[in-house]
Amino acid sequence: MPEGHTIHRAARDQRPMLEGKIISMASPQGRFFEGAARLDGKICLTVEAYGKHLIYQFETEMALHIHLGLFGRFRTAKLPAAEPRGEVRVRMISSTHVVDINGPNTCEVLDPGELAALTKRIGPDVLRKDANPDLAFARIAKSKTSIGQLLMDQAVIGGIGNIYRTEILWRQNVHPLTPGNRISRGVFDQLWNDSVQLLEVGVKNNAIITVDGVKKSRSKYGERVNIFNKATCPTCDSEIKKFEIAKRRAFMCSRCQPVLETKNETMQRN
Ligand SMILES: [Zn+2]
Repeated sequence: MPEGHTIHRAARDQRPMLEGKIISMASPQGRFFEGAARLDGKICLTVEAYGKHLIYQFETEMALHIHLGLFGRFRTAKLPAAEPRGEVRVRMISSTHVVDINGPNTCEVLDPGELAALTKRIGPDVLRKDANPDLAFARIAKSKTSIGQLLMDQAVIGGIGNIYRTEILWRQNVHPLTPGNRISRGVFDQLWNDSVQLLEVGVKNNAIITVDGVKKSRSKYGERVNIFNKATCPTCDSEIKKFEIAKRRAFMCSRCQPVLETKNETMQRN
């Protein structure tokens, strides 16, 4: 599944193609025929990402809401537009570019009330300048759910997927199963700041790069990671432990990510 940086990157790439331009909108595959007809011929005002959701705001206050899900993808090109490839749900053509969206999980037209409800449902997005980390911390601080699961809960924090979750917790030496209510504000701030930094690197490179100071790899997605799907820890050489959190693959280094001690436990020992 695409993580938040993919959607912010798509917004960044598509803005100059669509914003301020009259959009001819169609559904070559036919499944979004009515929605496309409502937005056809309108001016696209903004293209914005909220977590893993992409919102195209149009004049007349209507917005196109896209969530790619597991199999969705964007394809963009300069005009002239080629024949649609595969099952193109939405095709947007401006005066300069064509943007095709295949296989999205969600593809719908939202009115202002529906859009406000959606953005309210999404937790603060680490890549948005207007994000308020206090909201995320408030939810984490009162939860007994593991920080590993909370970081991927899009209602708590927007944008972090499985690879970033794994890497950020390792980089900040936090055990993934630490309950949210045992995460201090200081540790939360470390996690938040590292998320912002790493996802910004991801948008810039259009690839997940969590190893400091390196460039994209030559693999299909160009990713560079420390422990996700790796055998050993690059810091201490210990074996990486593989397990599951909420049915998603999880990885950790027991040595670099020790179980957090509470103040009580520490006091008892002393
Ligand atoms: Zn280690």
